[in-house]
Amino acid sequence: MPEGHTIHRLAARHAELFVGDKMHAASPQGRFAEGAARLTGSVLDGTEAYGKHLLHHYAGEVTLHVHLGLYGKFADGAGEPPEPVGQVRLRLTSDRHWLDLRGPTACELLTPPEVAALRARLGPDPLRADADPERAYARISRSVTPLAALLLDQSVVAGTGLIFVTEALFRAGLPPLLPGRDLGRAEWAELWADLVALMRVGVARGRIDTVRDVHSPEVTGRAARVDRHGGEVYVYRRPGAPCHVCGTEVSRGELAGRNLYWCPTCQAG
Ligand SMILES: [Zn+2]
Repeated sequence: MPEGHTIHRLAARHAELFVGDKMHAASPQGRFAEGAARLTGSVLDGTEAYGKHLLHHYAGEVTLHVHLGLYGKFADGAGEPPEPVGQVRLRLTSDRHWLDLRGPTACELLTPPEVAALRARLGPDPLRADADPERAYARISRSVTPLAALLLDQSVVAGTGLIFVTEALFRAGLPPLLPGRDLGRAEWAELWADLVALMRVGVARGRIDTVRDVHSPEVTGRAARVDRHGGEVYVYRRPGAPCHVCGTEVSRGELAGRNLYWCPTCQAG
C-alpha cells in the first residue's frame, strides 16, 4: 500500500495540473457515475493529503475523497485522454490535462462535516505543518500494544506504513514489540522527528530511502538494493541478510498478519 509520502506527492501533482480549472468528471466504469455528474463543471480550489487520504476541494464545498488502498492507482497526462482501458472509476479532465483513477478503496464525495470527521479520526501526519505529535504520544504512552502496531494505526499516526515504521524503529534502536507505554517522552520526540525527516525525503525523491550515508553502498562498497520499492533500507524485507550496521542476521516476525523486520542486536532495546 502506498505510504503517506506518495499521497502528498499526488496532492501536489494534482494541484499543479488542475487547481483553478473547471473540471469535467466521468466514471467510465460506472461505479462513480453519480458523483462524477455532481463534480462536472466545478472548479478545483485546492488539494490536500492527510495520511493516506487524498482530498480534492471543489468550489461549492464539495470534496472528493480518495483512498488508494492496496490496488488503487492514478495516471495522468496532457491533452486529450486516451480511450479508457480497464476499470477506470474516475476520469477528471480539464482543458489541459486528464487524470484517471483505478481500483481505489474509497472514491466518494464528502460534505464539510464529513471532511471534519475524517480528519478527526486520523492521528497527526508527520508531513503536515499542523501535526501535533503530543496527540500521538498521549495514545502511545497509555498503551500496552506493541510500538510497531501503534505506529501503523492511522488513528495514532497518519501516513506511516510498514516501511517507514520498520525503518524508523531500526534507526531509533527500538524493538518493534516494545509496549507503547515503555517509550519515553524524549524517545518519542526523536522518533517523531526522524519520521518527519524520512517522510520528507520520501516526498522529495518519490521513494523510501532510510540508510544513513555512512552505511550506503557508495561508502561501504556493498551491493545496492534491488527491489521494486527502490530505496535503500536497513531491515525492511531483508530477513536473513546481514544488518548493515552490525552484521547480525535480520529477523522476521509477524504482528497482526503483517511482517515485521528488525535487527535483534541493534534493536535489543
Ligand atoms: Zn544490527
